[in-house]
Amino acid sequence: MQIRTKIAIQFTIIIACILIIFSLAVYYTSENFRKQEFYNRLHDRGILTAQLLKELKITEKDKRKLRDANKTILGKLNVEKVLMFNDKDELVYASYEADSILYSPAFLKQVRQKKYIEKNDWDNQLTGSLYTDENNKSYVVIAKANDIYGKEKLQNVRDTLIISFVIGITLTIILGIIFAGESLKPIAEINQEISNITAYNLKRKLNTGNNKDEIAQLSNNFNQMLERLETSFQLQKSFVSNASHELRTPLAALKSEIQIALENDRTTDEYKSILRSLLTDTQRLIQLTNGLLQLAKSENREDNMALRPTRIDEILFKAQEEVLGLNTNFKIVVDFDEIPDDDKWVTVNANETLLLTVFTNLLDNACKYSADNQAEVKIKFNQKLCIVDVKDNGIGIPESELSKIFEPFYRTQNAAVYRGHGIGLSVCRRIIDIHQGKIEVKSVVGKGSIFVVTLPHL
Ligand code: ADP
Repeated sequence: MQIRTKIAIQFTIIIACILIIFSLAVYYTSENFRKQEFYNRLHDRGILTAQLLKELKITEKDKRKLRDANKTILGKLNVEKVLMFNDKDELVYASYEADSILYSPAFLKQVRQKKYIEKNDWDNQLTGSLYTDENNKSYVVIAKANDIYGKEKLQNVRDTLIISFVIGITLTIILGIIFAGESLKPIAEINQEISNITAYNLKRKLNTGNNKDEIAQLSNNFNQMLERLETSFQLQKSFVSNASHELRTPLAALKSEIQIALENDRTTDEYKSILRSLLTDTQRLIQLTNGLLQLAKSENREDNMALRPTRIDEILFKAQEEVLGLNTNFKIVVDFDEIPDDDKWVTVNANETLLLTVFTNLLDNACKYSADNQAEVKIKFNQKLCIVDVKDNGIGIPESELSKIFEPFYRTQNAAVYRGHGIGLSVCRRIIDIHQGKIEVKSVVGKGSIFVVTLPHL
């Protein structure tokens, strides 16, 4: 169902409920008012008749005349019928020819006890009142009538309410559809604009209108998302071209080495030396491919990666062992700033393999980019965080390039002579991001660098 129809229906249901409650309230209040007013009228008419009879000392003949007048003039109007009983339950006056006594002594007794009674009698309303004259003679006066005019008026009120309800609801449906359509128009426009945006024209932006309402906020957020997507697409594009460039260079070197080797006949020693050189290049290629693989893996890790409590110091010792195993001339010292009281302070929720990759990269870099091939690692902690400093006294990183070294394939000018492909640090940053940590660097060219990894501990 379209939102427009949904809003119109909800709107109509709400208005219908309000109208029904309102109409019922008006109807029942009018009905109560009519009833009460009619009871009062009956009561007054009964008492008035009793007074008249008394004061005018009306004879039997006059009574008949009064009755006839009642019948001819008022009877047509279906006016009140009045009966009067004395204290012996004898009918002393009837405003019409009552053939039989309609009221039981029990009822008359009840009126005498309660002094005043209101009652519904089929279509009629009835009041029974106790009237006492100056001689202390008491009479029960019963007045009864059908409030035809009142009921007709009420019927009119009811018809008016029903017609108003039907008109009101029809108007609500029509206006609901029009207004819902109007309010949703900007969304329909956004829909149209979005359907024109593809991976090739992410630069297109949505119209943010007045820049104030929720729709403008939605468009703004969508535009920001498009910007992020565009950046990420661009990164991916440059990653692919960088990766193919990085792979092509050593492959081309391998090819030309083989071509040159094949140009002339060579001695066994010469072939051996060429093969050794080929082996070194192949190893570099393997390293590069591994780096690319790690980067791709770290990109896809976040969703279903298992994190387990892992001791940072243990990972650092493993990383130390791994780096020293591959480079016997490197020297790495791992130390605590202070000994932790609680193991939790150096235990982080982590994927061990990924964290090992981070510290292997940092330790390898620290030794690789230092003349003394030495790295110093310090483990620190505070209430919330575990902090690892990897320090070297190496070539350092120019300040202008500090923010770029975490981008894939970026290598500083002064590092060109060292082996490497510029992948390691981007892998590190991605992995640390996944662990909700931070990686920062401080460096002075010619003096050394310090990489600081911060991770939340248990
Ligand atoms: P790689 O070392 O393979 O080139 P990285 O991504 O690990 O790739 O590092 C990116 C760049 O950052 C390096 O090429 C180098 O220019 C610089 N860098 C990283 N670590 C250090 C360090 N400890 N000292 C100086 N420069 C460094």
